[in-house]
Amino acid sequence: MIDDKLLYENLKKYFGYDTFRNGQEEIITNILKGEDVLGVLPTGGGKSICYQLPALIKEGITLVISPLISLMKDQVDSLVEDGISASFINSSLAYDDYIDSIRKIRSGNIKLLYISPERLENKFFLDFLKELKVSFIAIDEAHCISQWGHDFRPSYKLIPSIYEILGNVPVAAFTATATQEVREDIIANLKLKEPYVKVTGFDRENLTFKVEKPSDKMKFVKRYLKDHENDSGIIYASTRKKVDELYKSIKKLGLDVSKYHAGLSEDTRVKDQDDFIYDRKKIIVATNAFGMGIDKSNVRYVIHYNMPKDMESYYQEAGRAGRDGEASDCILLYNAHDIIINKFFINQTNNPSYKKYQLEKLQTIINYVNTSKCLRAFILEYFGQEAMDTCNNCSNCLNEVEKTDATIDSQKVLSCIYRLDQRYGSRTVIDCLKGANNKNSREKNLKDISTYGIMKTNSENYIRNLIGTLIADGYIRVSGSTYPILRLTEKAKEVLFEESKVYVNYTIREKEDLKEKVPYIVDGEDYDEELFNHLKKVRLELSKKRNIPPFIIFSDASLKDMAIYKPRSEEDFLKIKGVGDKKLMQYGDIFIAEISEFIINNRKY
Ligand code: ADP
Repeated sequence: MIDDKLLYENLKKYFGYDTFRNGQEEIITNILKGEDVLGVLPTGGGKSICYQLPALIKEGITLVISPLISLMKDQVDSLVEDGISASFINSSLAYDDYIDSIRKIRSGNIKLLYISPERLENKFFLDFLKELKVSFIAIDEAHCISQWGHDFRPSYKLIPSIYEILGNVPVAAFTATATQEVREDIIANLKLKEPYVKVTGFDRENLTFKVEKPSDKMKFVKRYLKDHENDSGIIYASTRKKVDELYKSIKKLGLDVSKYHAGLSEDTRVKDQDDFIYDRKKIIVATNAFGMGIDKSNVRYVIHYNMPKDMESYYQEAGRAGRDGEASDCILLYNAHDIIINKFFINQTNNPSYKKYQLEKLQTIINYVNTSKCLRAFILEYFGQEAMDTCNNCSNCLNEVEKTDATIDSQKVLSCIYRLDQRYGSRTVIDCLKGANNKNSREKNLKDISTYGIMKTNSENYIRNLIGTLIADGYIRVSGSTYPILRLTEKAKEVLFEESKVYVNYTIREKEDLKEKVPYIVDGEDYDEELFNHLKKVRLELSKKRNIPPFIIFSDASLKDMAIYKPRSEEDFLKIKGVGDKKLMQYGDIFIAEISEFIINNRKY
């Protein structure tokens, strides 16, 4: 029998939360029952508590296998901050610290031991494992065992070889990867026995997705950063050169910015990354080399200065925003040049089938930037999850759009593709519609086509955007790898021959009322922004003094809760989200004093 009360007591005592997030309670209960488990939760969904809480309740030590050595120290520090005894063993430990860890584990005082999968290659370590009473094995980032995933890690294959040594204890595997193939691979390769499988939704309600097509991207970024000076965020760019350029421009604005790409020395990278994690610099500009192993929970925005290569990369990178559940922005800046850069990268490969695969993937994200439907619905459907038609929390839903009947223009475009025998790409289709008299047009005798010049009064940009939307919304299919060819889908035939209508969105102005309320987010209580910013400073000072990242002391969500309820007694402080017994003991006095002083100094209260 699992005692529910015990679960909730421990959740509050150690982690400071009153309720479980979607999926957590069922997963924990099944681990406690001794079942094997596969938990599929999105980034920021709260996977850690799923194994940390049962580890506390079960007798013995829990072995946590995690691929990211750089994260282990943070994870262990964070547990220690919560009053939980944990330790890690990996190649980054100096010999003395390693011996010290082993000694502590032997003494039986440690509840969670984090190791990397490579540790299982070490004979001495395997012998050491035999001495321990392991309660269960938790496997983080379990998709690393799958060759389908992009993070395949061969040493994950060693994991089942230790089951017998540990007396066939239960195994709990966790991942954020959505695809069915990967899930099946995890169950088979990790040899999970009739596991309890919990897949929660992939939606990240607190993220606002936006696609922007500014004529001047830099200007957009500058304005955004000025408006969000107190926030921490990541700006991704596709090349090192662009990262350097952006870094310089942002520095000139007088903002604290750090940068990260593979061209910098290891020392510089570690320092720049730490500056960002420890909130010494609020902004980091980086290539996609940055991010794996970053668990910073208070990232308020992720801006993509260039379009990434596919939806998977985009969702993973953008998903680094808002792990603490607070409202955060994911903005993709786009212009046609982004397609050229991506195609250039793709053309570096010589393998034709891989090239074709990558181009298809690229098309999915081109569709994302061009779609007129809800961006969240687009993402969720792409990952195979059903979604509502509107979320009221993405740029397509938040912007007041005029639904324009574009049937006639769409028919012109579609029939031009048809008349051209579906043999050409957008360049030729546009030349034909515009009635161009250039080399391409003369070579292909476009003058003889009946749709020649039927859109000569429209701008090239308009036609190009319309083609983009028709592709994104499924009227046109792009095929061919070296030269993309436009072809018609069944849906296009309905427009051409069956009077089906096409509507496209043209943004006119932002719906301010919607933006203010953000109805999609449930938790929208008013907080005192001044107090919140003050508490952030207090946290930063403590972080410097203790040399641990600020978000490990308190998440933004906890500080915001303090700025709503302004607790001035220990009893009230304990009611704050994320405050457990240890946090109260360690930081209660400091924060209660700061809040009280703030209230006295601000006469409005
Ligand atoms: P994941 O590993 O799935 O990306 P984490 O375990 O790092 O997510 O959790 C993300 C954030 O959510 C952390 O700040 C964590 O403290 C918080 N969190 C986890 N469970 C809860 C809960 N039940 N209530 C409130 N916050 C939670």
